[in-house]
Amino acid sequence: MENKNEMKALVFDIQSFSTHDGPGIRSNIFFKGCPLTCLWCANPEGQKAVPQLFYTKMKCVGCMLCAKVCPHDAVTAYETKEEAEAFGFVRHDREKCDKCETHDCVEMCLQNALDITGKWMTVDDIMEKVHRDASYYAGKGGITLSGGDPLVYADFVTELLRRCKSEGINTVLESELCVPARSLEKVMPYIDLYLTDIKIIDDQKHIEMTGVTNKQILENLRLIGRTCPEKACLRCPIIPGCTDSDENIHAIGKFCKENGFSRVNILPYHKLGTTKHERLGSVYPLPDVQAPSDEQMQHVADILESYKIDCIIN
Ligand code: SF4
Ligand code: SF4
Repeated sequence: MENKNEMKALVFDIQSFSTHDGPGIRSNIFFKGCPLTCLWCANPEGQKAVPQLFYTKMKCVGCMLCAKVCPHDAVTAYETKEEAEAFGFVRHDREKCDKCETHDCVEMCLQNALDITGKWMTVDDIMEKVHRDASYYAGKGGITLSGGDPLVYADFVTELLRRCKSEGINTVLESELCVPARSLEKVMPYIDLYLTDIKIIDDQKHIEMTGVTNKQILENLRLIGRTCPEKACLRCPIIPGCTDSDENIHAIGKFCKENGFSRVNILPYHKLGTTKHERLGSVYPLPDVQAPSDEQMQHVADILESYKIDCIIN
């Protein structure tokens, strides 16, 4: 393990005063980098473990100052009015931008149309922020590690969590668990609550929708089930046509029952990732999928409750 003081992780957001992801008032720290590429991802900027260029087309006036300073010739102007209306005045070669280390264009843009998402931080950097927020935790709140996936930086988050626990700060981990078991085992002594997705039990379908096999994820969930199921609240995103089949929900109910999980939150699909995809220069993969109705959500809840699972519709 590298020197604990020198370790860095890429963070794309720290939200203070969050009340959604764990008890009380919390600081949510979003790590950049995720083994999965879920089609419905609400935080696509959390997927790649590199700083990335965010482009806000509404602010861009097409002055091309950014193109003049770009050392990699990554910026070109759209040629037609239709393209400019759809995508903004400029197109970025994202492969070049993702490798760029200087981001000269950002300072040059007088319209604030350009921004970098992702900042390398040390444990001390994050603890400084946590200490600033700590008076609002009031004993109950604390930190929630989210992403992307915090366990991409297993040694880093182990140290961060260890320090929080040594100061009596409550800890929540939101992770996809698509990491070697030894990465999960490192953080387990320091976790108060796991908020972990369970999406699709059929492996082939899981690969189609998320880009990865679910074998390691289910293994890690079994590990939590064997050791501390009471600390886990599983989350199932209900994405019509992807996760919502009766077959999948029954399989999730059966898996939870077999592994001692008694709480599942079901989360209705939303399209919050659309604008972020646009700012990253990528296309939202599920433009035509609609949010499930209240009746569809209740139907899913009824199936899970038939397995004696305490199911909450978020
Ligand atoms: S991104 Fe900024 S600098 Fe580049 S063309 Fe648009 S307004 Fe000009
Ligand atoms: S991020 Fe780097 S490569 Fe991309 S446009 Fe800006 S300066 Fe050029």
